[in-house]
Amino acid sequence: MRVPRWVALVLAAPVLAQQYDIVLANGRVMDPESNLDAVRNVGIRGGKIAAVSESPLEGRTVVDVRGLVVTAGFIDLHSHGQTPENYGFKARDGVTTALELEVGVNPVSTWYASREGRALINFGATSGHIPARMAVMHDSGQLLPRDNAVTEIAAPEQVKQIYELVRRGLDEGALGIGLGIAYVPKTSRAEILELFQLAAERRVPIYVHMRNAGPLEPGAIDALQEVLADAAATGAAVHIVHITSMGLRETPVLLGMIDGARRRGLDVTTEAYPYTAAMTDLSSAVFDAGWQQHLGGISYGDLQWAASGERLNADTFARYRKQGGMVVIHSIPEDIVRLAVANPMVMIASDGVLENGKGHPRGAGTFARVLGRYVREQRSLELMDALRTMSLAPAQRLGIQSKGRLQLGADADITVFDPAGVMDRATFDKPAQYSDGITYVRVNGVFVVRNGELQSQATPGRPLRR
Ligand SMILES: [Zn+2]
Repeated sequence: MRVPRWVALVLAAPVLAQQYDIVLANGRVMDPESNLDAVRNVGIRGGKIAAVSESPLEGRTVVDVRGLVVTAGFIDLHSHGQTPENYGFKARDGVTTALELEVGVNPVSTWYASREGRALINFGATSGHIPARMAVMHDSGQLLPRDNAVTEIAAPEQVKQIYELVRRGLDEGALGIGLGIAYVPKTSRAEILELFQLAAERRVPIYVHMRNAGPLEPGAIDALQEVLADAAATGAAVHIVHITSMGLRETPVLLGMIDGARRRGLDVTTEAYPYTAAMTDLSSAVFDAGWQQHLGGISYGDLQWAASGERLNADTFARYRKQGGMVVIHSIPEDIVRLAVANPMVMIASDGVLENGKGHPRGAGTFARVLGRYVREQRSLELMDALRTMSLAPAQRLGIQSKGRLQLGADADITVFDPAGVMDRATFDKPAQYSDGITYVRVNGVFVVRNGELQSQATPGRPLRR
């Protein structure tokens, strides 16, 4: 009997509907929101997770990921590196979204426009107070201020202009307000409070590098008191960046303060990177007189010039400070790093940037280092708790429902890694080294890492805006 064409089509339709663009088969699926930790098949269609199933699924491509962990792609809330070079290292470290939230950018719309349609992974930024202040005060620095924005008090008219630029950035879709008080020490407490008021009005978080670090006053405790008081007084949400490099030996006190503030209803979160050294620009205000004591009692030899890897002395310090450039600061005790990484309240964020292969290893190895060194080797925290601080918690901080979850309907930003082999390889001497054990990474349903190989021509990254 001859079957009419339409019957064949109708019969075929349900089968077609079951087919996925790609199936990640037989992996150990871990979702930190539902706490699912079981062998499942994940079907992806049109950039979304379309099935998480115990039974086998049909796909145009089926990849057997037996023995590997399949989880939501990592979200790096603190990524100064926003270039193809940096996105490649991020992807090989399991990161599917990299955001510039601390320093932020200005103007916001041109920053987004220059990356749209060209990025390997998802990207986004805050409206930055630092770049706004640098523009208005004609500072000659690049990422960070080095002269006028550091040394001069802004006139009332300039303060108005700075806020106007920050406001405009929010109008253009920025993810919040970026603030680095330590880099602009002449910014008054009243000006900072006004920024918190703006954040509260616009219902966006403030991402802040606090006014001071270390155990001496003015130091990390009074710096945290300033931003907690501003958050309490205005109702703004605040995220404290790199808690360990600010707190040093006082980090447990700071974490106790943040925990207490949260218990009393403040929306305050924090982050750390898993390294015993910080990095910033040597020409910035962080190295104003007294830096040795304020950074916990370190000296010239604890500074490492990123461009050459050499340790500094008084002479090279003076010369390079005039020149400006990134310097690694060996200042954070290892037990403090471990304590912060193991705290389920502390998100993992890299603070990384690499330029022509130079920089700090955190730009390449942050996430694999937590999984390999602190979860597997040292058993400082459970794998699921680590994944939560790398994906779900940052997504919640951003207020984004579709990311940070390995669930039906979520964006197909997926990281697949070998729990027995994942490890960072980047070091202070050779920072530009890809992590091991990150096997597959998909961004919006497209491979950016396949069989451990970077797919550097892929451009599935999308802008994150408010
Ligand atoms: Zn910082």
